[in-house]
Amino acid sequence: QPTIGVLALQGAFDAHARMLQQCGAKTVLIRKPEQLANIDGLVIPGGESTTFLKALERGGFFDALQEFVQSKPTFGTCAGVILIAKHVTHPEQKSLGALDVTVERNAYGRQNDSRILEAETTLPGGPFEMVYIRAPRITQTGPGVETLAERDGSPTLVRQGHLLAATFHPELSTDKRVHELFLDSVRAAHNG
Ligand code: GLN
Repeated sequence: QPTIGVLALQGAFDAHARMLQQCGAKTVLIRKPEQLANIDGLVIPGGESTTFLKALERGGFFDALQEFVQSKPTFGTCAGVILIAKHVTHPEQKSLGALDVTVERNAYGRQNDSRILEAETTLPGGPFEMVYIRAPRITQTGPGVETLAERDGSPTLVRQGHLLAATFHPELSTDKRVHELFLDSVRAAHNG
């Protein structure tokens, strides 16, 4: 049984841990870089990416996390996508540089920046409810990035090898398909 870490420096980590547990996974909240050595996969939740970066600058956390996301299964949601992306715009910002995308922060303006939409994904089982909260927008994807869902023609759920990223918050809905998809990839990597 693999262990999933949920980065718990800020943001929506509790809801992720709950959903992963409902999927039958063992979870641990990650607050120190040393803990990364004991997990098989990691969720980087939404929240505020600049706040996240500040917390990561302490105690060698940024470098340890950068090494982790290069090879271990990692699932970023919303601010988590901004953190793992190669390029961040609006404004430009430091990131872990793992997922080959360009992501624009707070891309949907002030009026309608938070909303719930339903859209098809490539996952079986019909439309998926997507909760967007001051969401970023993926404006470019590299050749190794597979798009699993879109909003207005921009990818909102993408996968690149061991990396999964959602610009919405699947942990705030009841549909577990995206978390199950991540767990499948962790189990596959875990069983070698
Ligand atoms: N707007 C936030 C940021 O730029 C992300 C929002 C979220 O994670 N819900 O970091």
